[in-house]
Amino acid sequence: MTGGGADAGAGDVSNAGANAGAGDVSSSTSGAVTGDVAAAAAAGPTETRLRAIRHDALALAEQLEHDMVAVSEARDSSNVDDEHDPEGSTIAFERSQLAAVRDSAAARARDADDALERLGAGTYGICLNCGRPIAPARLDARPMAGLCIDCAS
Ligand SMILES: [Zn+2]
Repeated sequence: MTGGGADAGAGDVSNAGANAGAGDVSSSTSGAVTGDVAAAAAAGPTETRLRAIRHDALALAEQLEHDMVAVSEARDSSNVDDEHDPEGSTIAFERSQLAAVRDSAAARARDADDALERLGAGTYGICLNCGRPIAPARLDARPMAGLCIDCAS
């Protein structure tokens, strides 16, 4: 009787305790952790990097836009002749340089946008031309790459 009671008690405790405890832990805690990790990996370093590139490129394009306005205003206030004054042509050259850098920054922002779109669509890292996977090393070096090395070269 005594032995049976002890056995039954121990059995109840270990079964109930282990099952309830393990069940709760795995379904809530580890489930949530796994979900977070998966979400972080999916949203992960590539998306973070692309968003940073896009953000920086847009900020640079905006800064250059301001610089171009400043150059224009400097020219207006100095009242020089673009066509014939040597300083005028320097300013025109400076403006065209700024415009070129601004355009390339804007293009980089668009490329990052496109890459983010592919990431969302699940086609990121797939060559747009041949449909084969783009080498991870290439994506690491050029996260906005839409073409594999063979198609790009
Ligand atoms: Zn390709």
